[in-house]
Amino acid sequence: MERQIVHIREELCNGCGVCVAPCAEGAIEMVNGKARVVREELCDGAGFCIGVCPTGALTIETREAPAFDEHAAERKMAERGAMYIEQTCHVCHVGEESRVLLPCRSSGQSLWVCTRCLPQLIHG
Ligand code: SF4
Repeated sequence: MERQIVHIREELCNGCGVCVAPCAEGAIEMVNGKARVVREELCDGAGFCIGVCPTGALTIETREAPAFDEHAAERKMAERGAMYIEQTCHVCHVGEESRVLLPCRSSGQSLWVCTRCLPQLIHG
């Protein structure tokens, strides 16, 4: 099927590994020092890994790929256990421990925004 899925530009990946934890489904792993989508059926294409990448190596592309397998993703999440890196608001940089964050899309990026900054984004 044709669908949205994460694309990793290996030449831009610096191997920092920051994108692994935000991928709740476990689709991204580090292989030989580079991020890889190891099982395409685990990537739901939501793109919450994109906002954390410091080099712009992650994008969403539309192409032929296996359908997202929710049950396989649940099994993978149970296997690997909780992985947690606190996410921050892309406007004020406050962390989710301090304020509720919501996902948003802007200029092709998946970003987090806190409830205090959200009205500013809506109303300008
Ligand atoms: S966050 Fe970006 S640079 Fe870091 S490992 Fe993932 S793809 Fe590579």
